[in-house]
Amino acid sequence: VKVEGISINKTSAAPEDEEKEEEISPAERSLLQKIIRKGLVENKNDVKVQCKDPNSPLYSVKSFEALNLKPELLKGVYAMGFNSPSKIQETALPTLLADPPQNMIAQSQSGTGKTAAFVLAMLSRVDPNKNYPQVLCLSPTYELAIQTGEVASKMAQYCPEIKIRLAVRGEEVSRGTILTDHIIIGTPGKVQDWGMKLRFFDLSKISVFVLDEADVMIATQGHQDQSFRIHKCLPRTCQMMFFSATYEQDVMEFAEAIVSNPVIIRLKREEESLDNIKQYYVMCNSAEEKYAAISNIYGVVTIGQAMIFCHTRKTASWLSEKMSKDGHAVAILTSDLTVEQRIAVLDRFRDGLEKVLITTNVLSRGIDVEQVTIVVNFDLPIDHLTRKADCETYLHRIGRTGRFGKAGLAINLVDGDNSLNLLRQIEQHFGRKIQLLDASDVDEIE
Ligand code: ADP
Repeated sequence: VKVEGISINKTSAAPEDEEKEEEISPAERSLLQKIIRKGLVENKNDVKVQCKDPNSPLYSVKSFEALNLKPELLKGVYAMGFNSPSKIQETALPTLLADPPQNMIAQSQSGTGKTAAFVLAMLSRVDPNKNYPQVLCLSPTYELAIQTGEVASKMAQYCPEIKIRLAVRGEEVSRGTILTDHIIIGTPGKVQDWGMKLRFFDLSKISVFVLDEADVMIATQGHQDQSFRIHKCLPRTCQMMFFSATYEQDVMEFAEAIVSNPVIIRLKREEESLDNIKQYYVMCNSAEEKYAAISNIYGVVTIGQAMIFCHTRKTASWLSEKMSKDGHAVAILTSDLTVEQRIAVLDRFRDGLEKVLITTNVLSRGIDVEQVTIVVNFDLPIDHLTRKADCETYLHRIGRTGRFGKAGLAINLVDGDNSLNLLRQIEQHFGRKIQLLDASDVDEIE
């Protein structure tokens, strides 16, 4: 089975590991995390509120009803399958919807419900009787803006009077147009063009300004300046909402420079752990033997869905080609695919069309996909500088945050002393034994 639009290297010999996997940009990583995840990331930590304004009425809600939303909007929320607010939403929504409006800076990891929270706030702040842009949302990339736009359209499905416009590449408006849409979701460059240069809308009439993925925004060249410039044209009374998946100093400095007197809320990431994960290793002598091991355990692996991590793109392509030739439905995701191809691969995998996803470190973080029950390390993660085991990456690949009732399974393929050594380092680091598995006797796997 071949994944559409993806060419696979025509190498038949087992590749050597000389090629390093490239890093992908924070924007791409963030996008891939969004695509591959089906639902909320649960988090048992408490939301920390740091409030600058002692008079602000802070409370949290346990239901969407308690927010006094327009009935059509509430209907839209339920139609998306949201029964109750996520942790971050419980605390963020009352503040985002409060009158008088309050500024907010919110930080929590990807998948905790930030987008849904600010989209709901954006929609409920719109006055559909006023036919001009009132809400502006900046996203760092084209693809992330599209994602947000899709969430907004879905949530507003029973509010046909609310008009949403994307300001991203490819969207053209003829000169002299005055936009009548209520909400604009776009990238900083295009929004600057439309709002400041071409004056398709009046930035001084914006009453809600959302900055999504602030950390990614900062990491994207030029976006910080553009956001500052746009921000300068907004009225002083404009409500500012600022969201970030990470909490680093530069992000917070940027946030506090833009958002005055904010309520700051924060949900700490839940630590991943190896509890509940059965870890095995298989002794092999070559890439070919690793391949044989995978073939032997294939039946077990595809009871659920599996991810196989390789050290390099070359190994990933080689493995994918071999497995495909053997008639297995596998998907491959590496950093040389276009963004569209990556989205397509992850969409298919998320929907279960392929049971196996072969990848490199492109996906080692944020792969907390519920349906992935088995992780295979075709190559053990290694730190390029120290040549020691990369235990952090191992944990990101294998670890879970304890929310799954199901036990996970990790299978490490070891070839030779070097990789056995890495395995021992990992065992020692986590203080957990990794069991030897005879791949020809898969009944051993419980
Ligand atoms: P973030 O912006 O923090 O990455 P999202 O808002 O994209 O998080 O939410 C992550 C996933 O959880 C999405 O699939 C979204 O549809 C879903 N989701 C968001 N809020 C809720 C909720 N209250 N109940 C159930 N699912 C939710």
